[in-house]
Amino acid sequence: MEIENLTKEIRALAFERKDPKTPSQVAASWYNDDLTYDGVAKTLFIILPTPGCSWAIGDSGGCTMCSYVSDCTLEPIDSKTIVDIFKQHLNRFPVNEEDKITVKLFASGSFLNPRELPKDARDEILNILMDLGNVHEIVVESRAEYVKEEYIDEVVDIIGDTLFEISMGLETSNDYTRLKKINKGFSLDDFNNAVSLIQKLNSKKGYNLKSKAYIFVKPILLNEKDAIDEAIETARYCADHNVDRLSFCPATIHGGTLIERMWRKGAYQPPWIWSCIEIINTVRKELDIPTLLDTSGFGSRRGPYNCKKCNKDLKHMIIANNLTQTPIEYECDCKNKWLAEVNNADMNKSTVPAKHLPLY
Ligand code: SF4
Ligand SMILES: [Zn+2]
Repeated sequence: MEIENLTKEIRALAFERKDPKTPSQVAASWYNDDLTYDGVAKTLFIILPTPGCSWAIGDSGGCTMCSYVSDCTLEPIDSKTIVDIFKQHLNRFPVNEEDKITVKLFASGSFLNPRELPKDARDEILNILMDLGNVHEIVVESRAEYVKEEYIDEVVDIIGDTLFEISMGLETSNDYTRLKKINKGFSLDDFNNAVSLIQKLNSKKGYNLKSKAYIFVKPILLNEKDAIDEAIETARYCADHNVDRLSFCPATIHGGTLIERMWRKGAYQPPWIWSCIEIINTVRKELDIPTLLDTSGFGSRRGPYNCKKCNKDLKHMIIANNLTQTPIEYECDCKNKWLAEVNNADMNKSTVPAKHLPLY
């Protein structure tokens, strides 16, 4: 309860301090090689203008590590504006007709929630993509509660058998961590129901849907060792439940969040890059499931960090190995420092209850 109250308070302060963005300021796009279900292929990434994640705007205050909502308009946007801005971004990247492309549509929240992306705008965007004739995969993000048969039927009515991946922020298979430390607001059952629905629609209606789980590395109030163990355990859980792909998201310090407040007070540090490598190498060795490791913020003051000598090298290696799905082999002197921290994690484990942390 204390964590939820703090999150609400910090979110309210962040809203007061920062002016909402205009729809054009929210949108962004880029074009990259990425690992698709068909191997490495050209992928177009588009951030759609949206009011922001309903979970973060609403009474909960949102998740303890996420400030995407601060980069949104906070006000509803009319569908014509959303579609016009989408078209401008699409036109920035003329695509050869013979190129197969994957399109990733980010809504800074839930693509399938009609309050964030109205149905008529969603329909129009999907129709435009289908008219291109060479879009083979569409990837979106959504909270589990919006993965509903009704919404998926509406999407498939337009895209037919084009592969449609729904990425969900499970974060961890540990309900206590997800609910109490991340303030995620949904249970493992909610996630399982979404994954089961995706599998049921594939088998019963012949849809071409895939599921992806985002796994958050090092939530607040977990030591380095427990963070590694929990991330690997979550990957095993997802593989057992036939999730199609995994994406590990190591913590970076977003402004205006509870994680930032704890970091400023010295009560939290993002994970070592070595911890991320330990996770990805273990999972790639043990499980037969494509796994990606997000490198946002790596080597920066607010992101995962090893030492000045190896941060950059490792970031480049991780990006390259996301495409090849091979383990990361690398040595640096700072590894011993990391090992000492992981091996002594139990000794450092704080037993101070969250409500007594000096966060004010
Ligand atoms: S992590 Fe996802 S659900 Fe949580 S506040 Fe951010 S966008 Fe919303
Ligand atoms: Zn190093």
